[in-house]
Amino acid sequence: MSSEKVSCLIIGSGPAGYTAAIYASRAGLSPVLYTGGQPGGQLTITTEVENYPGYPEGVQGPQMMIDFENQARRFGADIRYGLATKVDFSNPTLHKVWIDDTTLIESPAVIIATGASAKWLGLESEQRLNGYGVSACAVCDGFFFRNQEVAIVGGGDTACEEASYLAKLCKKVYMIVRRDELRASQVMQNRVKSTPNIEILWNSETEEVLGDQGVTGVRLKNIQTEESYTIDVTGFFVAIGHQPNTEIFKEYIDMDNAGYIQTIKGSAKTNVEGVFACGDAQDNIYRQAITAAGSGCMAALDAERYLTEKGIH
Ligand code: FAD
Ligand code: NAP
Repeated sequence: MSSEKVSCLIIGSGPAGYTAAIYASRAGLSPVLYTGGQPGGQLTITTEVENYPGYPEGVQGPQMMIDFENQARRFGADIRYGLATKVDFSNPTLHKVWIDDTTLIESPAVIIATGASAKWLGLESEQRLNGYGVSACAVCDGFFFRNQEVAIVGGGDTACEEASYLAKLCKKVYMIVRRDELRASQVMQNRVKSTPNIEILWNSETEEVLGDQGVTGVRLKNIQTEESYTIDVTGFFVAIGHQPNTEIFKEYIDMDNAGYIQTIKGSAKTNVEGVFACGDAQDNIYRQAITAAGSGCMAALDAERYLTEKGIH
């Protein structure tokens, strides 16, 4: 096991982590950032980002995250591939974080920017057919279903965006929505409702994804009438939200019931001195790239002040 001491460790490489890295490196903290399993974070699995200020024509999500990374590198951030697998925050002056179970990083300041991951429905058939017609990323896998009929579960912005994306490739897209309204923003709702080859199946729950070698259909239940019915589709996409990637911190860090880290109001501070949190890992309300980036800035500024107060920086 190798070990290393750094003055500021950032865990995660989405908008929050890279923004923290930009601010921390410009402040001379020589931050080390570990990317985790999804370098660039959630926006690397989307297409157009239209609402991030500074890109008047919009920008492709993966390109935007390359821009973030390059900006952090420009100021000297040390960006490394690796996953934080265990932490020990019991010593308030020097926190321990293990990377890939092989490297121990010790740092007086740790910024958690681990974001969130896709949720699944939890059906046996969904798991069995995962990768064989079941997917949680339309942008990644939609191409395989060109000119076919597919279904997508969810009624939030992600489901609407992915349904719109699929509608351009596929013959027909069914949106399976468990209530009689969408959660998505108005602009996204308008988009799906005005797309002729998207049909919304209201008040519907998925009972089973059908098929042996690949998806052949989905059995649904109308929760108002209790009637089950089947649609014939070859692709089944799940877009029902995300859960925060905070499991490894739960022994030390205060969280809400869903696992979102609780920060001290008006700051990025957690209940553990020297540990800060930003982005979707601590935000169950806004969950946008711009708010993640803003809170990444807060975390780096809080870390810098903390290290200065402690006489470390
Ligand atoms: P994430 O982007 O989730 O990044 C988390 C990072 O942490 C990843 O790099 C991951 O590898 C890393 N990580 C996780 N666990 C560990 C670990 N144990 N060790 C090391 N690293 C770890 N928002 C908008 O504003 N506009 C949009 O148009 C938009 N479109 C979206 C489209 C889709 C399909 C999705 C899913 C989301 C979209 N969002 C959009 C929301 C936006 O992507 C998120 O709010 C934002 O990415 C959150 O940033 P983050 O830095 O907190 O975390
Ligand atoms: P979300 O807003 O939490 O929506 C999740 C959707 O899935 C809801 O419609 C929810 O239904 C449904 N759902 C949850 N569990 C379900 C289950 N077990 N079975 C069936 N349906 C289920 O998640 P999101 O759409 O991923 O968006 C997350 C954040 O990212 C939001 O803040 C969003 O604004 C942002 N985002 C923004 C953009 C953009 O601006 N272009 C694009 C994508 C995402 P209920 O409504 O009934 O709870």
